[in-house]
Amino acid sequence: MDAQVETISPHKSTKGDEVVIELLGVNKWYGEFHVLKDINLSVYQGEKIVICGPSGSGKSTLIRCINRLEEHQGGDIIVNGVTLDNNLKNIDAIRSDVGMVFQSFNLFPHLTVLENCTLAPIWVKQTPKAEAEDRAMEFLRRVKIPEQAGKYPGQLSGGQQQRVAIARSLCMNPQIMLFDEPTSALDPEMISEVLDVMVELADSGMTMLVVTHEMGFAKRVADRVIFMDYGEIVEQNTPEEFFTNPRSDRTKLFLSQIL
Ligand code: ADP
Ligand code: MG
Repeated sequence: MDAQVETISPHKSTKGDEVVIELLGVNKWYGEFHVLKDINLSVYQGEKIVICGPSGSGKSTLIRCINRLEEHQGGDIIVNGVTLDNNLKNIDAIRSDVGMVFQSFNLFPHLTVLENCTLAPIWVKQTPKAEAEDRAMEFLRRVKIPEQAGKYPGQLSGGQQQRVAIARSLCMNPQIMLFDEPTSALDPEMISEVLDVMVELADSGMTMLVVTHEMGFAKRVADRVIFMDYGEIVEQNTPEEFFTNPRSDRTKLFLSQIL
């Protein structure tokens, strides 16, 4: 739990009326194992959703399906009006609209911080190098580590590496950001420096789906908290209601274990 995040003023929702992600009756199996069971979810432009739930409940699988890192087998996933199927053009379109930040940073170790940030803009979006570098520096300033631009990931702390990963995603100009337990691999003293960057991103109006157990962050930023268990969305509510008045026994049990 992060005290610093909890004490700043409450988040002003930037949620609009337009649905940007829609999941309709989504099902997925890993072999015989039914990992996502009839998931229905509409995410609005600018909305911040925090997804929590026990380990193995399908949280990572759910958000990985949204940018097609995993394939679903039943139902529909529609992102920015594009239905996710095997059409590679659609997958490319989704990947450039949807950024993702992982627990384990996933930076390229043999590239500098700046090169990590300019690689995809130069090679995927054909951005001229000088322009890509200017933009990368702008985002490195935004995550407060411009002075690290020439270093390699291995020379940075975990918190700094995760901030590079966020900046790298932002360099592709995404409209939606997915975060999969972005602070779980960090030493406790580095968690708030990453959450602070995420709070700023939320305040800028970005649509965000964040898998996290950082409840201070959820209370500060989330429009909606979703609780998953055994591949189902068991309960969803505003953070105020979710934390003070959980409805299902499974949610109560989960909250009693993490709070
Ligand atoms: P969470 O992120 O909530 O911990 P995951 O989505 O990672 O859950 O995993 C849900 C379940 O699916 C777990 O039981 C996990 O072991 C299983 N699983 C995840 N990925 C695979 C895979 N590639 N193949 C088979 N089973 C998997
Ligand atoms: Mg996970």
